[in-house]
Amino acid sequence: FFIAVEGGDGAGKSTQTEALAEWIRNKGHEVVTTREPGATAIGKRLRSILLDVSSAGLSDRAEALLYAADRAEHIDSVVRPALARGAVVISDRYIDSSVAYQGAGRELSPTEVARISRWATDGLVPHLTVLLDVSPETARERFTEAPDRLESESGAFHQRVRAGFLTLAAADPTRYLVVDAGQEAEEVTTLVRHRLDQLLPL
Ligand code: C5P
Repeated sequence: FFIAVEGGDGAGKSTQTEALAEWIRNKGHEVVTTREPGATAIGKRLRSILLDVSSAGLSDRAEALLYAADRAEHIDSVVRPALARGAVVISDRYIDSSVAYQGAGRELSPTEVARISRWATDGLVPHLTVLLDVSPETARERFTEAPDRLESESGAFHQRVRAGFLTLAAADPTRYLVVDAGQEAEEVTTLVRHRLDQLLPL
């Protein structure tokens, strides 16, 4: 069973990923938590290229391809093997992040960006995608560290990213759960658990 957790920066993706993993583990299942970009050795190198402020001149298409390369490596070496042995995999970010950031945020074609990722992953689609939706203003208040290259982008960029995620979710309500991530973390976890209870034979 494959779950993707998506949303803008500061939406609480890593907190929710960990909370859900613990809940599912307590039910006796193997859970693998993972993330994009940077879950593999190659991915860590790609992540540092992508996020370092010194990559300021990186072209939009090159950026999209580097995220796709990270994803290809991640799916091949981490996600598919875990799913094959029956583990529940929870990934902090997946294809929708590319469609939202590179497609909507950078204003590349969302359809083309999605196509690159579909090829990179050989068509692996999550059973459930949890979209943690929060306004960029609320999210920004949660930042504790110095912003990376993407977090320093304009408010308009982050608004396009948010709208990009919401458009994806609206197109496929059966696969998505959209949660207002401006609420307390515990409330968000409860809402996601409720949906998972209906989906997972746990
Ligand atoms: O989620 P995490 O903080 O690890 O993501 C790292 C950075 O990469 C974030 O600033 C996020 O905005 C950016 N990102 C992106 N395009 C993606 C995935 C992440 O710009 N496809």
